[in-house]
Amino acid sequence: MYNNPNLIFEQSIPQGKTGWRSPSNIALVKYWGKKAVQIPLNPSISFTLSKSYTETTVEYSPAAEGESAVQFFLEGEINEQFGEKIHAYFKGLDTIFPFLKQLKFTIRSSNTFPHSAGIASSASGMSALALCLCSIEQKHFGGMESKEAFFQKASYLARLGSGSACRSLYGGMVSWGKVDGRIETSDLWGTQQIKNVHPDFLTFNDSILIVDAAQKKVSSRIGHGLMNSNPFSAERFKQAQSNILRLMDVLKIGDMDEFINITESEALTLHAMMMTSNPYYLLMKPNTLNIIERIFDFRESTGIPVCFTLDAGPNIHLLYPEKVSSEVKVFIDDELKTFLHQSRIIEDRVGNGPENLNL
Ligand code: ADP
Repeated sequence: MYNNPNLIFEQSIPQGKTGWRSPSNIALVKYWGKKAVQIPLNPSISFTLSKSYTETTVEYSPAAEGESAVQFFLEGEINEQFGEKIHAYFKGLDTIFPFLKQLKFTIRSSNTFPHSAGIASSASGMSALALCLCSIEQKHFGGMESKEAFFQKASYLARLGSGSACRSLYGGMVSWGKVDGRIETSDLWGTQQIKNVHPDFLTFNDSILIVDAAQKKVSSRIGHGLMNSNPFSAERFKQAQSNILRLMDVLKIGDMDEFINITESEALTLHAMMMTSNPYYLLMKPNTLNIIERIFDFRESTGIPVCFTLDAGPNIHLLYPEKVSSEVKVFIDDELKTFLHQSRIIEDRVGNGPENLNL
């Protein structure tokens, strides 16, 4: 829908630099299963994070014939595997941004958290990159007519790089995918749900407990594909539609018990889908389960509203309102730290969305 043959340099081809910081996000209702091209088979909704982010700078200059188009550095070191994926992504955008083939790129990126371990570096990484491309368009071709249109286009482009990346373009709560009866939602980009959210949920903490920082054995791309033959997928897609509608109400009225119920059930359902795929696989580790059991016990014995979710990986996102954070910190130190990889925790919280690095 954004195809535009006019976005091509007619005379001199410029050089320049742009950069964005963009956050990861953690889904409460999970996206798992897609069809072409990057259209989700069920809607999802997430918290945008604050401290788990990617910073990406893109330097561009005229490309000479046969020159390598993308050089990608991760944490200061060349990463050919990531670079090739980005090159393929740029090629796929040739009708939206025809100017990409006139340029060569040096991209430097760093993540504040381990990548490929289920903390959605694909979301922060691809949203940062999509924003850089939109900034290049804006600088040299005038870009979109409003800030809203700019971010909507960046969300659309981020989605093409990695589905859940389209939810990282806004702060607070963001949905993606058509929700029955909600006209503001779309399969093509993320929609900020901030207007409908009870303030308790906008100060939520997310202590990300690193059980295992290693690269997961089955990528999300393969996991999504396995949903096409999963015998439970049709029911799962229906369940997600109903869970997201329930959760949107819960978020509005501030019903903590229902929030916990839906959030934990969604996390376990996501992993149940992996276990019931063919071939089946597990991304949880023994210490993931040890922590989950401690959370159940702690909540039952204290009544403190703390719960967990999981992304497609073994690491626990411990979610709780700000007002119980001191009790939860003691719980983490006393009971959970022992199960962590090098006692590693990323103390995160709901964030405000991407920031331009103004280079
Ligand atoms: P994760 O749970 O971290 O999202 P995935 O396997 O789903 O794990 O995605 C990891 C992929 O995301 C990497 O292989 C790479 O292609 C991409 N990625 C990670 N970090 C960045 C970054 N900073 N810039 C661009 N792409 C990135």
